[in-house]
Amino acid sequence: MSATHILVLPYPAQGHVIPLMQLSHELVKHGIKITFVNTDFNHKQIMKALAAKGEEVRSEIRLTSIPDGLEDGISRNCLEMLTESICQVMPKELEMLIKEINQSDSVKISCVVADVSMAWALEVAEKMGIQRVAFWPASASLLALSLSIQKLLDDGIIDTDGTPTKDQIIQLSSKMPLMRTEHFVWAQIGEDLKAQKIVFNYMRSNNKAMQVAHWVICNSTSELEPSAFAYAPEILPIGPLLSSKGNHFGNLEGSFWPEDSTCLNWLDQQPDNSVIYIAFGSFTVFDLTQLQELALGLELSNKPFLWVVRSDVNNGENYAFLKAFEDRLFPRGKVVGWAPQQQVLHHPSVACFLSHCGWNSTIEGVTNGVPFLCWPYFADQFLNETYICDIWMVGLSLNRKDGIIRRQEITYKIKQVLHDEGFKTRALALKERAINSVKEGGMSNQNFKNFVDWIRA
Ligand code: UDP
Repeated sequence: MSATHILVLPYPAQGHVIPLMQLSHELVKHGIKITFVNTDFNHKQIMKALAAKGEEVRSEIRLTSIPDGLEDGISRNCLEMLTESICQVMPKELEMLIKEINQSDSVKISCVVADVSMAWALEVAEKMGIQRVAFWPASASLLALSLSIQKLLDDGIIDTDGTPTKDQIIQLSSKMPLMRTEHFVWAQIGEDLKAQKIVFNYMRSNNKAMQVAHWVICNSTSELEPSAFAYAPEILPIGPLLSSKGNHFGNLEGSFWPEDSTCLNWLDQQPDNSVIYIAFGSFTVFDLTQLQELALGLELSNKPFLWVVRSDVNNGENYAFLKAFEDRLFPRGKVVGWAPQQQVLHHPSVACFLSHCGWNSTIEGVTNGVPFLCWPYFADQFLNETYICDIWMVGLSLNRKDGIIRRQEITYKIKQVLHDEGFKTRALALKERAINSVKEGGMSNQNFKNFVDWIRA
């Protein structure tokens, strides 16, 4: 029986649950027992997605849940409402859960691994005399920015509510990515200033709570972000975390929607290095005009494409044109509701990834050597676009005209990224470097080993 029991707590969003589940699977391989805590709402959604695929829950990770404080019918996409509710309800729910587990389980919880966006959980753990680890599922640069909030305030770059004092480009250190102040993550989240303030204050309180962490680990690698890790050496890279290690794609028990695996058979029918894969993660929504421009751009490109259109991508409205578009373009193009993305990006027929540049999607594209077309939407996606286009030079940005990315821009950039072999060459070189860091002798590999030794000590 395992002697070490860890409680893992992700922020309740798809892009946080998946990497923490990947981390959990890595820890299980070292004989560590994991209790993975979702919110009740997400837990139900994950169970529903698993059931729809006819899959069972694995026994080695115990999946459980606590309430987030919101009613079932309320959308969790309103981040300010979710944030306020998390703060009010979840700390005491977590404490009760830990007490309950420690009374009933033969192996007591000895460590809490919490998402940095749930760092308040580390204070709960400290109060209960439990060890503490903060996990960051996005770029080290973004965490470095968040940890620099006080400096940004002192330097007059932002106001006390997080609003940039002016739109300008800054750099945290001479080699770090250029950051546009209007693209600061907290200025990109939420509907209005009130929402921004709530999210900004939540980030600040999590920064404070992180001070009780014994470790701060990050799903990135010094190969991808050397300057960020030099600027903030307290952040330790252990990534890229992937479920494709050894080319084996396990069932992650973390998807909010059932993956449509029929697209893998469709990919098998396509020539190598020919398909445009289009996916915008779990949050992005589009209006009808933008959705139509994208569809027409894909049609005009004359390339095979695989497009993920979530059922809620247009806020639940079912645009009839999409069905007609799909019928007209199949089999050259295929549309699915949710893809097994890591497997798709690993497939030899994929030539390019048109992405919203969420950090997980970015890491998944990079570790498969796939060039990008960047369509950032909010939060840290603009910063990730800077990495992709300006620093690693493995992709191109799509430019907006009057707020819209037009079909001509889409076809033009598809052509450019596919015709210039430099993108693929650089993407393959970057892939090697990123993957080497989790192999024997790599820095992420060593950090992870040290981390596991510490947990089990
Ligand atoms: N994803 C997936 N199938 C899809 C689209 C996305 O499995 O059809 C996964 C993707 O592999 C990634 C996560 O969902 O791990 C999205 O995280 P990301 O940080 O890219 O974006 P977010 O959803 O947080 O905006």
